[in-house]
Amino acid sequence: MTLPFATAAAASVIPSRSAFRILAKNTPYPPPDKSMANSLNINPEIFSTIRRSDLTFRIIVHGGAGFWRSDIKLAKVGVEEAAKEGLRVLVKGGCALDAVEAAVVAMEDDPIFNAGKGSALTCLGTVEMDAGIMDGKQLSAGAVALVRRVKNPVHLARIVMENTDHVLVAGLTAERLAKAFHLPTANPVTAKRRQALVRTTRAARRGRVPWLKRNRALLRRRPEILGHDTVGAVAVDALGNFASAASTGGMAMKLPGRIGDTPLIGSGLYSDNWSGSATVTGWGEVAVRLGLSRTVCLRMEGGMSASKAAEKCVRMASNRLRGHAGIIAIDPSGGMAAVHNTAYMPWAYASESMRSPIVHVRGKTVARLP
Ligand code: ASP
Repeated sequence: MTLPFATAAAASVIPSRSAFRILAKNTPYPPPDKSMANSLNINPEIFSTIRRSDLTFRIIVHGGAGFWRSDIKLAKVGVEEAAKEGLRVLVKGGCALDAVEAAVVAMEDDPIFNAGKGSALTCLGTVEMDAGIMDGKQLSAGAVALVRRVKNPVHLARIVMENTDHVLVAGLTAERLAKAFHLPTANPVTAKRRQALVRTTRAARRGRVPWLKRNRALLRRRPEILGHDTVGAVAVDALGNFASAASTGGMAMKLPGRIGDTPLIGSGLYSDNWSGSATVTGWGEVAVRLGLSRTVCLRMEGGMSASKAAEKCVRMASNRLRGHAGIIAIDPSGGMAAVHNTAYMPWAYASESMRSPIVHVRGKTVARLP
């Protein structure tokens, strides 16, 4: 199927590779002009190893590391659509930040994912959503937590980033902020999630231990019912600016008030033009304790490829804390990765040279956990 952005008309709006790209094409490196690395806010050391014509835009999205069943087919469609949304932005010359936001909004609006509509329910049957966004050019970031009625929490995260002096705003004030900026509201609770809660609560009642221990026992016995399906996106645009975004309803049956890794910069997501972008999914408490997304980025800043850095961090989650984890990342040279230790992680990627995204239900599976 031909995508709207793949038409000749749309092709004409592709930035003419920008002055930078034309200049860069086939130029030997290290680059003659180091000030270019500065103006792009790219680590000059890494910049000198990049063939500048390789600096094309690209986006990766994921629909959550977890225990997908027959609904994996719908998740595949969902991540493909989300990657297309992001790609549309990049093809028109938009920035990475707009691209990851558009991709995450698409998945928040798709009830198959545990983010926005279709969010997992707390043990009380309520929804408390978390989201975050980060711009690697300025290291600016915004996030929201415990949001109940905002249709697209990732939009609210961007409002926090661009209109407040804070990085993370939670609860009532976040809702008020959404109202002040006229963000649409919606009831994120779906019948499917209600039925899931009834099933899991029934199963939990058979346990003999208090709440958290019950959750743990339940997780061991039936990991799929506490499964995670958070959404996330990482992108780099034609100017070499990196961005990441993530959104989630959190872990099913979580205690009200629990905040996971998704809105925590450095845990659930990180972006820096010097080191690339990473977004994490899985058991939030593990990603928080290991500072996973920042660790991936630091490794990439040190010269490690996205794929190696993501793999090492997923292994660390398995080996040190036996926690589920999935990571998507793009390194400063444009290398891409999708790695996880769960049965599935639907994901899609697209780059400048592609007409439509490539979609997979699994990335590289390492140190797999039951
Ligand atoms: N990391 C999310 C959380 O713990 C869940 C997920 O990735 O699916 O809230």
